[in-house]
Amino acid sequence: MALTGIQIYKLLPQTNCKECGYPTCLAFAMKLAAKQVELSACPYVTPEAKTQLAESSAPPIRLISIKSDGYEAKAGNEVVLFRHDKTFYNKPGLFIRVYDNQPVDAIKALVTEVNGYAVNYVGMDLTVDGFVVASMAGDANTFAAAVQAVRGISKRPIILMSRDVSIARAGVNVLKGETPLIYGADAKNWEAFADLAKEIKASLGVIAGSLAETAELTDKIKARGVEDLVIDPGGRDLGSGLALGTTIRRLAIKKNYRPLGFPVITFPGDAGDPGMESVHAAQAITKYAGFIVLDHFNPATIYPLLVLRQNIYTDPQKPIQVQPGIYEINAPKPESPVLVTTNFSFTYFSVANEVEGSGLPAWLLVTDAEGMSVLTAWAAGKFDAERIAKAIKGFNVADKVSRKRVVLPGHVAVLSGELEGELPDWEIRVGPREAVDLPAFMKQAL
Ligand code: SF4
Repeated sequence: MALTGIQIYKLLPQTNCKECGYPTCLAFAMKLAAKQVELSACPYVTPEAKTQLAESSAPPIRLISIKSDGYEAKAGNEVVLFRHDKTFYNKPGLFIRVYDNQPVDAIKALVTEVNGYAVNYVGMDLTVDGFVVASMAGDANTFAAAVQAVRGISKRPIILMSRDVSIARAGVNVLKGETPLIYGADAKNWEAFADLAKEIKASLGVIAGSLAETAELTDKIKARGVEDLVIDPGGRDLGSGLALGTTIRRLAIKKNYRPLGFPVITFPGDAGDPGMESVHAAQAITKYAGFIVLDHFNPATIYPLLVLRQNIYTDPQKPIQVQPGIYEINAPKPESPVLVTTNFSFTYFSVANEVEGSGLPAWLLVTDAEGMSVLTAWAAGKFDAERIAKAIKGFNVADKVSRKRVVLPGHVAVLSGELEGELPDWEIRVGPREAVDLPAFMKQAL
């Protein structure tokens, strides 16, 4: 049973030293009760209190990790229902499913295509996380051959899918030294699957007919010594998938209901139609899948899913940033202009993409504005003449150019006078307000 804020407070040192970042121990206790901070933020909790607080401080959704050679797909450890309450931590894994009754060459061709797919989005490479090998043939050797076909091409994590423990074991034997997810245990086979998962320290998928039956099954499997579970609540259509996913998340987060405190695996691929599969997967990314199994791979549909996932799982309090510095666009020469912007990723890529697309050479000076866009940073005092001048000097921009000419974003034209004072030997120009207008400005005015 979760402790209340007052109960937690009684176990804290009550010195109000503020080292945890909160003004009082009571404030910290309230945050801990709401799962919005980690107990480790207080360095003075006694070992006895730690033991008593373990239940309260443990994440309501267990962290599950599927590991292979150099790769890891994690799900769980979430503490809030809504991203704006704090943040979501572990992006749901996107897995592409192959079937062991497919020709081996077809499996290899698909895995090769998926494995080689990466798309760069605001400086990050987005990729698919791994593969599911599903047993259809009902034969251990055929299953092992399919697992081997995948593993021969990709090192990414694998989910083994069979309700027959001897077939699942054949797959496990191919993945020696890895911690796959084995899917899965049901009301009939759970003892054998629990023993297999315990033996190789793997995570175990749990399938039951209802949430009550799922809770009963997870309790039984935990009692047999397997704690790392992933639950399949069913719900293959949009409505029931949403209802079940939300109910599980609410029970885990709000009621601290441990029998359902595990990541959820969903199968949008079961929708059959590739379009509906994408819609269902998009819903599952937002509410509240841990692992998502797709039957189709198409860059045109996987790309928006990857971007959606990235955006949902970006900490809203920490904007995506690029490294401050001087960037070269289209092989700039000493006489090329120096354009200035901030290190908010979207701002940087808007400017960089417009200039790059124009084919015009330029130096792009990215200043440290704590990840804010131009106007926000200016309003917050993080993008001013002093900072811009400091960046120009700090990155030795004068050594790269023969014509000292710097272009300010039009939104901060007000800084031009001040910047002239900071950089008396530079020509200060005011560019357009919008990045899209930069190419025309560069052609006509520079
Ligand atoms: S660090 Fe610990 S002792 Fe200090 S105020 Fe926070 S909870 Fe209290």
